[in-house]
Amino acid sequence: MLPDQQILRIPGPTPIPPRVQRAMSQPMIGHRGDEAKELLEDITPKLKPVFGTEEEVLVLAGSGTAGLETAVVNTVKPGDEVLVIVTGAFGDRFAKICDAYEIRYHRLDVPWGEAVHSEKVAHLLQQHPGISAVFCTYCETSTGVLNPVADIAKAVRQYSNALVIVDGVSAVGGAETKMDEWGVDVVVTGSQKALMLPAGLTFIAASKRAWKAMEENNRSRFYFDLRKYRDNLEKNSTPFTPAVSLLYGLQEVLKLLEEEGLEEVYRRHQLMMKMTRAAFQALDIPLFTADSDASPTVTAVKPADFDPEMLRKAVKEDFGLTLAGGQQHLKGQIFRIGHMGYCSPADVLQTISLLEIGLTKIGKSIELGKGVQAAQEIYVNQEGQK
Ligand SMILES: *Cc1c(COP(=O)(O)O)cnc(C)c1O
Repeated sequence: MLPDQQILRIPGPTPIPPRVQRAMSQPMIGHRGDEAKELLEDITPKLKPVFGTEEEVLVLAGSGTAGLETAVVNTVKPGDEVLVIVTGAFGDRFAKICDAYEIRYHRLDVPWGEAVHSEKVAHLLQQHPGISAVFCTYCETSTGVLNPVADIAKAVRQYSNALVIVDGVSAVGGAETKMDEWGVDVVVTGSQKALMLPAGLTFIAASKRAWKAMEENNRSRFYFDLRKYRDNLEKNSTPFTPAVSLLYGLQEVLKLLEEEGLEEVYRRHQLMMKMTRAAFQALDIPLFTADSDASPTVTAVKPADFDPEMLRKAVKEDFGLTLAGGQQHLKGQIFRIGHMGYCSPADVLQTISLLEIGLTKIGKSIELGKGVQAAQEIYVNQEGQK
């Protein structure tokens, strides 16, 4: 293994494109000067299509969880009753944030590894007409599930006036996101997943309905008060010192997404998902999620006859390939492969090939190349291939 080689295939942080890395090493600038204004002026409109919105996308310094907390404190008034959909560790995080603020919530628990059905959400909203916001996770990173956000939003709109608030941290920039068209009120994401940046930025877009709720909300908040960010953005400015280096990186990321084209970005992620899944199916190693619930950005695998921790250790030792393990009760039960952001079908083939060697090394008998071949076939036979 080469000392510096990192093959980072976890669902965040993800590898940084060289151009983005270079952009982030530019000399520091004053955040109240013209250069900073121009930077924000360039970034702001280009973020909108990534979220599928005409609304402003606000950028705060903080990890993804800061964005989740921001969404909660701005939209939920003291005394409100909300619904939290929990399909894994990140849905659970929304519940924990509500606990921290003593917010009354109903919890819709879905077995980990499955997506939520919008009928269940509709049913709960009919039972509890006082619910003012529904929190859900788009890609549940802990299980590799992509929840049907468009269906959920539709069901919520049909049965209540509740806001639909979506954690899109491991999805936005990798999975199609159409906030306005779907009727989603708030979308949150972070920088270190599909957006190919280091951790440290969180992004929030809000609908007009959500802004109204935020204006009327008297809950005390300071750094996370989104009204400050919105008012400053009108002057291409930020209320506090922005993470300037990360913004330079973001500017480059947005150029990359524009050059490739968002449709192509989403297609590439779908392709990588299909290649990864086909490989494990060919090797007869069970996937943790059904095809219909699978996320284009992360795949979870649940081995029946080997220890995923041994496999992770083997590929890390031999090749510097980092995979993620399971979270909470799935620790030692599953492993997860991130295929988002600066990741291509070539990277997926490398990962599968190295995994096959790792499997052999830990004593799992497989036919070498079988998974790689299945993934290659998906690549070769894809429709509309360029
Ligand atoms: C990574 C992630 C987060 C945020 O985690 P941070 O460590 O705070 O950046 C939130 N939600 C989901 C779905 C994630 O994948």
